[in-house]
Amino acid sequence: MSWFKTTKAYSVINNKCPRCHEGDMFLHSNPYNLKNMDKMPETCPVCGQRYFLEPMFYTGAMYASYAISIAITVATFVAIYTFYEMPIFWFVITATTILLVTLPFTFRWARTMWINFFVHYDPEVAKKVKAQ
Ligand SMILES: [Zn+2]
Repeated sequence: MSWFKTTKAYSVINNKCPRCHEGDMFLHSNPYNLKNMDKMPETCPVCGQRYFLEPMFYTGAMYASYAISIAITVATFVAIYTFYEMPIFWFVITATTILLVTLPFTFRWARTMWINFFVHYDPEVAKKVKAQ
């Protein structure tokens, strides 16, 4: 599975730096620590990659967040209507509950996904980081 560590999916799922895939994107590892769930260091603690590429950089992460939320809603819809016959009202309640419960993850994945559009994995940096 070492090939997986070089993919953007690894960076996004684990909220790791998009350049070295080692440094954490968020200061606190528990996303349900709601008070601190959005706290990020200015730079990667391992390779020094800047996390805020420009002012208001993560405003664009709303697009990624929207895409993730739609994916969760569609998956909920398919799961509910494959296994249960339930009125649309209960689908809305269930989907809303799932979206609220997964919100801290969605928030973080959206930010990591967004920076991954602009910063790419650098095997040379990763090699240097591992050598230290
Ligand atoms: Zn890094």
